[in-house]
Amino acid sequence: MRLIDHHCHGAVTVPLDRDGFESLATESDRPAPPGCSTLDSQLGFALRRWCAPVLGLDPHAPPADYLARRRELGPDEVNRRLLRAADVDAFLVDTGYRGDELLDTQGMTSLAGVPVREVVRLETVAESLSGNSAEGFADEYVTALERATAGAVAVKSVIAYRYGLDFDPARPGRREVTRAAGRWLRLGRTRMDDPVLLRHLLWAGVDRGLPVQVHTGFGDPDLDLARCDPLRMTGFLRATRDRDVDVMLLHCYPYHRQAGYLAQVFPHVYVDVGLAVNHVGARAAEVVAESLELAPFHKVLYSSDAFGLAELHHLGAVLFRQAFDAVTGAWVREGRWSAADAARVAELVGSGNARRVYRLELNGDHA
Ligand SMILES: [Zn+2]
Repeated sequence: MRLIDHHCHGAVTVPLDRDGFESLATESDRPAPPGCSTLDSQLGFALRRWCAPVLGLDPHAPPADYLARRRELGPDEVNRRLLRAADVDAFLVDTGYRGDELLDTQGMTSLAGVPVREVVRLETVAESLSGNSAEGFADEYVTALERATAGAVAVKSVIAYRYGLDFDPARPGRREVTRAAGRWLRLGRTRMDDPVLLRHLLWAGVDRGLPVQVHTGFGDPDLDLARCDPLRMTGFLRATRDRDVDVMLLHCYPYHRQAGYLAQVFPHVYVDVGLAVNHVGARAAEVVAESLELAPFHKVLYSSDAFGLAELHHLGAVLFRQAFDAVTGAWVREGRWSAADAARVAELVGSGNARRVYRLELNGDHA
C-alpha cells in the first residue's frame, strides 16, 4: 500500500535522554509517576515491537537497550533509518509548532529521501507579525499569509487548542477585527488565542484557497477535548460548503465516527485517524475499521501526526498498513468486498486522495 503522510511534523535533531524520549511518546505534559514509564502503553509496546528491528535490535527490545542503541547510532542515523523504513511517497509537514527544535522541510527531505511539502500554521503566521497597529492587523495578516504560503500545499488551524471548535462560524467584520487586534496587542500577547482574531485567521485561510487542515479530537492537555468534537464546527462547514476549499479534519479520535458523518454529508470535508493509530497500537485495526464506516472512501486519508520521534513516522505507516490490510482483507475473504475494490480503496486512502486534494506533483522530484 503506497502512502502519503498528509500531516506530520519534523523529527528532533538532538540526542534524547530517557525523560526526553518518554515525553515525546505521550500526549501528557507530565512525566509518569516515579518508578513508572510512559512506554507502558499501547504506543510504547508498538514502538518497541516495530522500531527496534529498524535499529538492529530484536522485536520488543527492553526500553533501556532501545535507548542505548538510539544513543549509539546518533540522531541523524536514527532519523534516516526510521524515516526511510516508513516507506512513504511524501511527507506534508506542519512547520509551525516548535519548528526550531525539529528538522525543517529540507532536513526531512535529505534524511527521508522523499519529497516533503510544507503545511503553514495560521496562528504561527499571526504570532510572527511585526506590526503594532490594530487598524493594520487584518490586511497585514492576509499579506503575511500570502507570503508564508507561497510554496505550501495547505494551511492548518489549531483553533481547537486556542479556543475550541464551538467557535462562531461567521466571518468577523473589519471593525470587530480591529477592536480585537487592539486588545490583543495591548496585552502584549505572543500567543494567538483571541476568538475573533482566530476566526479572522481561519477565514483568511479559506480565502487563500489551499486545503485547510483543522486539528480535531484528542491532543495534549492544552486543549479541552469536550470542545474538540468536529460536530461542533458544523456551522463553519455549512458556511464554507460553497467556497471551493477543502477542509481536512485531522485525527478526530475519539470523534472519528462523527467526522465520518461530516465527510459523508459535506462535499468538501475529509478525515483521517492519524495520531490515534499510533496511540492505540495493537487496537489500530478497530479504529481504522471505524474510520471506514460512514466516510466515503474518496474522503479518507492517511496521516501519522508524528512529532519529534521518527519512530512515530515509521510506526504510523506500519500500523496503518497492517490495520487497513487486516480490515479490508477480512471483508474480501467474507465475500463482502471484491479484491479489486479493496485494492482501489487502498490506493485512494493511502495516497490517491492526498495527491488529488493537495494537487501534489511528486514525479521526478527526488529533492
Ligand atoms: Zn499535528
